[in-house]
Amino acid sequence: MTGQAIAMLPVNEAESIILNLVQPLRERDAEVVDLSAGAGRILAEPVTSQLDFPHWDNSAMDGYAVRFADIQNCDQQQPAVLEIVEEIPAGYQPQRTILSGQAARIFTGAVMPPGADTVVMQENTKREGNRVLILQVSEPKTFVRRRAAFYQAGTTLLPPGIRLSAPDVAVLAAAQCSQLSVYRRPRVAILSTGDELVTVDQPLQPGQIVDSNQYALAAFVAQLGGIPQALGIVRDDQEQLQEAIAQAITTADVVLSTGGVSVGDYDYVDQILSNLGAEIHIRSVAVKPGKPLTVATFSTAQSSVLYFGLPGNPVSALVSCWRFVQPALKKLAGLADGWKPRFIKARSRHDLRCGGTRETYLWGQLHLIDGAYEFSLAGGNHSSGNLINLAQTTGLAVVPVGQTLISAGESVQVLPVGLTN
Ligand code: AMP
Ligand code: MG
Repeated sequence: MTGQAIAMLPVNEAESIILNLVQPLRERDAEVVDLSAGAGRILAEPVTSQLDFPHWDNSAMDGYAVRFADIQNCDQQQPAVLEIVEEIPAGYQPQRTILSGQAARIFTGAVMPPGADTVVMQENTKREGNRVLILQVSEPKTFVRRRAAFYQAGTTLLPPGIRLSAPDVAVLAAAQCSQLSVYRRPRVAILSTGDELVTVDQPLQPGQIVDSNQYALAAFVAQLGGIPQALGIVRDDQEQLQEAIAQAITTADVVLSTGGVSVGDYDYVDQILSNLGAEIHIRSVAVKPGKPLTVATFSTAQSSVLYFGLPGNPVSALVSCWRFVQPALKKLAGLADGWKPRFIKARSRHDLRCGGTRETYLWGQLHLIDGAYEFSLAGGNHSSGNLINLAQTTGLAVVPVGQTLISAGESVQVLPVGLTN
């Protein structure tokens, strides 16, 4: 396919081509980590409990452990009077069996003593020295958490392909899973092309600009749980770019390059990619911003590297990342689902205007007001070179091909982006 003309693709076609190219990480890409480093990682194997939970019958209340048969006929007028034979705080093993006429003082989480089958909460009792008066009858087995009531040993606690959250980590800790098999984090090489670019700490000479894409893309990759490999700035020089891409594909799962893919540069990038044995799948997408988008793969018997040639404009580069790279990275990372973009229906607070020939993404903020989403367009100029109003973006409103206006008050599809995602 390399070298042939490839038409400007509709956005959804480009999305499915990209997602079909992604080969998710597999078992051989798993690594073992301590539970304390597990949050945010993606499980590579199901986790099965070796333990029942609760581990033993225990009390759900502060009160008294009793035999139900002893209290079943009691009330305020005729309390059951029981002898307290033991006190069982949480963490202690009961020493006595509760016989008829006896009770044990017990606390929440403490092990039920043998012989007792019910807990009476202390609010329904009266203490008199070494005896307790039970003033109110409960149901049999009340306030006893039975061993294995929540799950039994052998139960699958968590399936593979989920990103571990705080409660997931709690479940694993309770089951004494101190080490986990998770997928390694995807390695994403980032390189910026352009003779005008300098790093953030270099003084600017006339005509130069800071390579903000390097920092933006590294932040984007890190936020998604990937490992950014910042390869720096490459001059607009075919040999240097070829060398940089050749190096990137030796270690990375995904390569993101920015700049150098706009019209006159096609043959140049094509040539480099084909010299290195890539197959080009996409060269241009009918999207605004972000039209020049090259997607290629480098495949060997062992691995496949996905290459995204993104536009140089900082806004276009990030919008392309959110729309196309993010789902690919999530799928590659091993997530079982949830990697497809999810759009939210929102009411637009502003008129949304565009040319109508390409699917247009307008950046701004999503707000949740009384349970309904609203979208406000970022103020200022919506040109793809204007980075300032992209700051704090939480949503991209989509205007479909063929439409030139979504009026204020109408509903619009919005892609949530940034930290909300
Ligand atoms: P290009 O895609 O190389 O034609 O670049 C388009 C525009 O984006 C130009 O104004 C570039 O100066 C700017 N640009 C390209 N690469 C970067 C970068 N890494 N960081 C910030 N701006 C860039
Ligand atoms: Mg350039």
